[in-house]
Amino acid sequence: MGYIVAIIGRPNVGKSTFFNRMVERRLAIVDKTSGVTRDRHYATCEWNGKTITLIDTGGYLENHLDKFQTEIDKQVVLAIEQSDAIIFMVDTQEGINSADMDVTKLLFKSGKIVYLVANKVDNNQRLQFASEFYKLGFDKIYPISSINGFGTGELLDDLVKHNSNALNEKKMELPHFAIVGRPNAGKSSLLNVLVGTQRSIVTDKSGTTRDSIDTIYKKYNYHFKLIDTAGIRKKSKVKDDVEFYSVMRAVRSIELCDVCLLMIDAKTGFQGQDQNIFWLAHRNYKGIVLLVNKWDLINKQEDNTKTTEKKIREIIAPFVDVPILFISCRTKQRIFKVLETTMKVHENRAKKIATNKLNQIMLPIIENSPPPSTKGKLIKIKYCSQLPTKYPQFVFYCNRPQYIKDAYKRFLENQIRNLFDFTGTPIQIILRKK
Ligand code: GDP
Ligand code: GDP
Repeated sequence: MGYIVAIIGRPNVGKSTFFNRMVERRLAIVDKTSGVTRDRHYATCEWNGKTITLIDTGGYLENHLDKFQTEIDKQVVLAIEQSDAIIFMVDTQEGINSADMDVTKLLFKSGKIVYLVANKVDNNQRLQFASEFYKLGFDKIYPISSINGFGTGELLDDLVKHNSNALNEKKMELPHFAIVGRPNAGKSSLLNVLVGTQRSIVTDKSGTTRDSIDTIYKKYNYHFKLIDTAGIRKKSKVKDDVEFYSVMRAVRSIELCDVCLLMIDAKTGFQGQDQNIFWLAHRNYKGIVLLVNKWDLINKQEDNTKTTEKKIREIIAPFVDVPILFISCRTKQRIFKVLETTMKVHENRAKKIATNKLNQIMLPIIENSPPPSTKGKLIKIKYCSQLPTKYPQFVFYCNRPQYIKDAYKRFLENQIRNLFDFTGTPIQIILRKK
């Protein structure tokens, strides 16, 4: 996903039209009547080889005049919270309006990068209308036409430029941990026992924790940043925008984190939606710690850690090298272990094996069990090295990389896992021609 940019602005300024143009697909329904409820979307677009994720907030505003202002505020606050940068869109056909001014105030307070985009500049004549928006106090205005594409190239150039800078800054940060899981799994409870304060409201009603808390903690000598999110739900159940934002948040927090603490309710078990979260984290090469919570409620005669763990490992195969902890937020069972394990997974994910050491150990193993020859062609792996990336990526250089099958890649991965501790972190095996 990468860099997230939210498009905000009054209804009818052209947010969805712009969004559609950027993603080159007509995803959202554009309607002439202001404030119709449309589909809400986020999508990824590419410019000069860089990826940007756009959030279209169009369609959030309902046609209630009294609700209008609070809805805009809510939208802006959430967009600010969830994105790296904001496209603030105004309409040169309509000119400045008081809502534009209010949004501006919020944006200035946030300190985020904001692109003031004056839309509907379809011709040169319209260009002069754009300068009216200097009154809002931004240094730069991007005049564009979402209909014919005028000015969008320059805007994207700048978005991509800032994107690279932002990514460099991110490298310096503390480990990021995200607590994810379905509503009611115990995410806020864990947060509370971990940090010892009643920061988020815990109730028995499903889905009551809406707000994500993103704070730096120093606990038991560990220094980290915790991202707490409302639960991911099945897409089909996404009905209101609060729901939408909680899905966004969960996806977002997985993307932002280094290690995700996936909470499972021991009573309901490791279900489809938990598995979706698991694979989402895996696909993104994030560290994973599985927490089976509410273990205090389990009758140990019927269900013990061994059988439950076995069941879970069968489901997550072949990526089974993942810590599974049986915890209780209520009795505080193994809570310290949660942080300890998470920190270890984070270290594993950042671990670098020296090239000579890696080759010394791996080459004899490969020699002993070489990749099976295909179509009579001998396949020879000459050497390997770990890339200096955020998560473990190992490159194996060989004469015919295209003939190496997934099974052999898994074999290589397993060897690495046996030799070095990479528990909890996905590993990428790359084959290159040499
Ligand atoms: P949103 O509510 O901000 O998402 O706005 P929409 O994308 O639904 O657009 C509202 C209306 O403005 C639609 O009728 C669009 O066709 C029109 N519109 C959007 N962009 C432009 C533009 O660049 N030029 C002109 N002339 N009309 C536009
Ligand atoms: P969230 O929606 O994932 O943030 O879940 P909450 O933290 O709000 O917890 C949902 C419910 O489960 C609350 O009623 C909690 O008191 C309860 N709960 C959380 N952890 C435990 C636990 O370890 N044992 C028991 N028995 N209940 C728990």
